Amino acid sequence: MINFALPVHESFAALQRAALERILVLDGAMGTMIQTLGMTEEDFTGGGHIHGPGCRHHPTDHPQKGNNDLLVLTQPQAVEDIQLEFALAGADILETNTFSSTTIAQADYGLEGAVHDLNVAGARVARRAGERAQQIDGKPRYVAGAVGPTNRTASISPDVNDPGYRAVTFDDLRRAYGQQIDGLIEGGADLILIETIFDTLNAKAAIFAAFESFAKVGRRLPIMISGTITDASGRTLSGQTPTAFWHSVRHARPFTVGLNCALGADAMRPHLAEIAGVAECFTCAYPNAGLPNAFGQYDETPEQTAALVEVFARDGLINVAGGCCGTTPDHIRAIAESVARHAPRKSKVLADA
Ligand SMILES: [Zn+2]
Repeated sequence: MINFALPVHESFAALQRAALERILVLDGAMGTMIQTLGMTEEDFTGGGHIHGPGCRHHPTDHPQKGNNDLLVLTQPQAVEDIQLEFALAGADILETNTFSSTTIAQADYGLEGAVHDLNVAGARVARRAGERAQQIDGKPRYVAGAVGPTNRTASISPDVNDPGYRAVTFDDLRRAYGQQIDGLIEGGADLILIETIFDTLNAKAAIFAAFESFAKVGRRLPIMISGTITDASGRTLSGQTPTAFWHSVRHARPFTVGLNCALGADAMRPHLAEIAGVAECFTCAYPNAGLPNAFGQYDETPEQTAALVEVFARDGLINVAGGCCGTTPDHIRAIAESVARHAPRKSKVLADA
């Protein structure tokens, strides 16, 4: 099903060219920005009327506060304005607000039926923000359809007394990711970003699903793959080293591979260096603004995060840089300024085009 003979999306060549010239900038965290708006249950549900672009209604009796992805339907202007701020701060690539827009993750909110609309709207909102930014400063922006890990893992049993048990199968994940990616493509995404990967089997299901979606529309989009290191020994939750992780996803011929989130830039560096040493494609890093404090807030200043990310750039480890949890437009502005002083990493072989 992984078919590289399909023609590539028109964004491929422009992205490739830009990434050879300079380190590209990815935007910052949507979740922590939304939190600062202090939205109520009423805000999240848009006054109780959740409907998609085609005015299809999505009734639910679950509370929705905290369902950030829902805001692309109920508060699209708020999401677009945050993305515009990130774009004007220097982001070339804007992530859709769709991290949890799969049937698996939306089951917590009783909104499995809204998944198609969430992804179509999520991509359209980000594209509008990108177009507004381009009207202001003339620079093109790219929309990365964000595909999160879901809240279930295909490799590890959630039940310590039953190690063979799995809460989700590869095929469940493949179907859920496929629905999500179909919606992201329909909404106009330029790339697919499979991120915060803690379980490589989940990521492999997402890759498989992406190629199934590409086959349906008859063209391939560039794929960005981003793992997360969850413990100090430098492994993903499913137990892989960065090198093993690369070899598990290499068959997708991604546009970028790299790391995001988790322990912050300082702790990320050796693992990123390992990936940069083995990967034949471009690399991408978008750390958190440090580790959260006891109140779940991120204390690292824009200058601190940017100084750490600048070391990645200075050492030739990255082609794309941005921010994860706790990073604001000011963090992205500081990161964009600091990486602009350095040449992009030289990848051994160009990403597939
Ligand atoms: Zn994060």
